[in-house]
Amino acid sequence: MPETIGFVGLGVMGAPMASNLMKAGHSLVVFDVVSDALDKAIADGAKGAGNPREVAEQADVVITMLPDSSVVEAVMYGDDGVLAGLSDGNLLIDMSSIHPTVSIAVAAAARERGVAALDAPVSGGDVGAQQGTLSIMVGGDEAAFERAKPYFEVLGKTIVHVGEPGAGQVVKACNQVVVAVSIQAVSEALVLGSKAGVAPDRILDVLSGGLAGNKVMEVRRRNFLEHDFTPGFRIDLHHKDLKIALETAGTYDVALPATGIVHQAMNALRANGHGSDDHSGLLRLVEEQANHTIGSTSPTAKD
Ligand code: NAD
Repeated sequence: MPETIGFVGLGVMGAPMASNLMKAGHSLVVFDVVSDALDKAIADGAKGAGNPREVAEQADVVITMLPDSSVVEAVMYGDDGVLAGLSDGNLLIDMSSIHPTVSIAVAAAARERGVAALDAPVSGGDVGAQQGTLSIMVGGDEAAFERAKPYFEVLGKTIVHVGEPGAGQVVKACNQVVVAVSIQAVSEALVLGSKAGVAPDRILDVLSGGLAGNKVMEVRRRNFLEHDFTPGFRIDLHHKDLKIALETAGTYDVALPATGIVHQAMNALRANGHGSDDHSGLLRLVEEQANHTIGSTSPTAKD
C-alpha cells in the first residue's frame, strides 16, 4: 500500500514541496499554524489536520519544513507534537535548516519510539522548491536514507547522504557560509568597480566568465542591478544560519573570520529594518559604507 506523507510547515519552501509530492501521486496530511497556508494545501488536495500529532498519527512518513530550531522543537515535542503521534516503523524527515545539536536530539528521541529520523536541509531556494530541483544534504542512517530517497527524488535533483544525524545540518551551515561570503564579495566588487566608473552590468558580464564567476552573480544579478531586494531568501533566515555556522565553528575550534564579518553586516541590516529583505540586500550596506549607489556613475572607466 502506498505510504501516506504528513507535512508540517507550508511556507515559502514547504508549500511548493508539498504540492510537488501531491502532483507525484502521494497522499498528504498537512498542518500549518497559518490557516491560509493550510487552506491552500487542502484546496490542492491535501487532508488537513489540527496539530502536528494528528498529522503523525495518520502518516507513515512525516516531513517538516519549519523556520528555525525553536519551532522544530515546539513541533516535535509535547503532547501535540509529531513524536507523540509517530509509532514503530514510521520515518521522520526534518528538512528545516536548524542547529545540528537539535537534529541529533530529535533523532535520539525518535529512535526511542522505534522511528528513524533524517535531517535533510536543502539549498536551491524558492525556485528550486517550486521546480523540484533542490539540493538535499542528508544526515542519518543509510537504511532510512534509502527509504526516503523516492520522496527526495520528487523534491530535488542533487541528493547526497553526508553522514550521521546532524551531518546534513553541518553541510547546510557550510553551504550558507559560501553563499553569504560570495554575496558580500560580489557586492564589494560591484561597489568598487562602479565607484571607479565602470558599469556594474559589464563587471558581472566579464567576471562571470572567469575564475570569479559564481551562481550568486547569475541568480541574483537582477536583484543587485535593480536594487530589488524582495525575498528570495530573507536576511533574517541567513543570519540564523550563520549563527549556527559560527556556533558550530566554536564547538570545533575553527576560525571563520569572513563569516563573522558578514554576520555582523547582517546584524546592522536587521537593526535598520532590513531583516525581511533578500540576502542580496547585503549590497545596501557596502554601498552606504562607500557613500555610493551602484549604477549612479557614467559607464566609462578610467584605465
Ligand atoms: P517560511 O517562514 O516561509 O515557512 C515556515 C512555515 O512554518 C510557515 O508557513 C509557518 O506558518 C510555519 N510554522 C511556524 N510555526 C509553526 C508551528 N508551530 N507549527 C506548524 N507550522 C508552523 O520559511 P521558508 O522560507 O519556507 O523556510 C523554511 C526552512 O527552510 C527554514 O529553516 C529556512 O532557513 C530553510 N530554507 C529556506 C530557503 C528559502 O529560499 N526560503 C532556502 C533553503 C532553505
